[in-house]
Amino acid sequence: MSITTDRSVVAPRRTAAEVVRAEARTAHNYHPLPVVLSHAEGAWLTDVDGRRFLDLLAGYSALNFGHSHPRLLSAAHAQLDRLTLTSRAFVHDRFADFCAALGDLCGKDMVLPMNTGAEAVETAIKVSRKWGYDVKGVAADQARIIVAAGNFHGRTTTIVGFSDDPDARDGFGPFTPGFDMVPYGDLAAIEGAITPNTVAVLIEPIQGEGGVIIPPAGFLVGLRELCTRENVLFVADEIQAGLGRTGRTFACDHDGVVPDLYVLGKALGGGIVPVSAVVGNSDVLGVLHPGQHGSTFGGNPLACAVGLEVVSMLASGEHQTRADQLGVVLTERLQAMVGNGVVGFRTRGLWAGVDIDPSLGTGREVCERLMAHGVLAKDTHGSTIRLAPPLVVSTDDLNWGMDQLEGSLR
Ligand code: PLP
Repeated sequence: MSITTDRSVVAPRRTAAEVVRAEARTAHNYHPLPVVLSHAEGAWLTDVDGRRFLDLLAGYSALNFGHSHPRLLSAAHAQLDRLTLTSRAFVHDRFADFCAALGDLCGKDMVLPMNTGAEAVETAIKVSRKWGYDVKGVAADQARIIVAAGNFHGRTTTIVGFSDDPDARDGFGPFTPGFDMVPYGDLAAIEGAITPNTVAVLIEPIQGEGGVIIPPAGFLVGLRELCTRENVLFVADEIQAGLGRTGRTFACDHDGVVPDLYVLGKALGGGIVPVSAVVGNSDVLGVLHPGQHGSTFGGNPLACAVGLEVVSMLASGEHQTRADQLGVVLTERLQAMVGNGVVGFRTRGLWAGVDIDPSLGTGREVCERLMAHGVLAKDTHGSTIRLAPPLVVSTDDLNWGMDQLEGSLR
């Protein structure tokens, strides 16, 4: 897609009014950039004034396939006209196909569909505890789960209770007990924290919100071996890292590692509906029985129709290859910026955490400058910004986006 934005005709007054109107009746749990978007296609967004922006966030990886992907839209439209919700009180005709396809993609035999990422993480926690009591033989209410410093697994009270981010956690206690925190990527610390009551290690194979933090080489392989040896579940939160983003179907694939439970979300819903899932084998997921867990919307027909199309798009490997190839371009461009506004960066596939020279401003300020250059991105912490373009972005557009980043760091 070529760049056709004519910034000379920008009339920001309506956007500013829309921003004020949007904020007037909204809880202040977000601090969005002052842009009001109205439509999108592929990697491009358009605001209410007709200004176009390159999307370098892709809904935190929920839009891995870009905006309005024709295959996903067509799957959603077809399902909308037929059947949208039954609840799990009844079986619908898209459910088995979706679960089978997602299970096959993961190489597992059972799928538990939910809606949001946080719900899937909560589900994995419940399943791990139940497995600990029913299978491992942990005494009632004694189960413990090891988590990593710097984690981000969602926003429920249980999940923020094992976060070390004061913004996420402070003011929301008391919290659910049963979690032990160790430094991220530190195998010896995990080994030291395991007790007979440990039922799981819950970990992001790459920490997304943390700034695209990649663990040391060999960590995931060592964790797999450790968990197997100690009879502890390896639970991989692939909600942001998985489903093509890193150039593989799962971030764990880079190390040839298969967790006991995959926790998936974001891109599983194709950017259209919230779809999440926990995927594992029946010796673990089979511990749940009717009445012990559920969701009115989890696994609904619309979600299954879209999710099935997502899985079939991933099954071809085309998007993973694209993320790999574009990732090379992204890495080369960022490498050239080191010393010129960038102090460091980490990439895996089409995903980057970029540490900006703090003297050039906060990550937020850089994102505001990027917005003025026609690019939308999001800071994570301090002076780090995260880049996660839709995997369908063209090489020219990606290069154009990198030109804008260079320009906004000058
Ligand atoms: N886990 C990870 C790794 C995430 O990045 C996120 C969201 O950013 C979540 C869980 C929570 O997902 P949701 O916002 O859909 O609840």
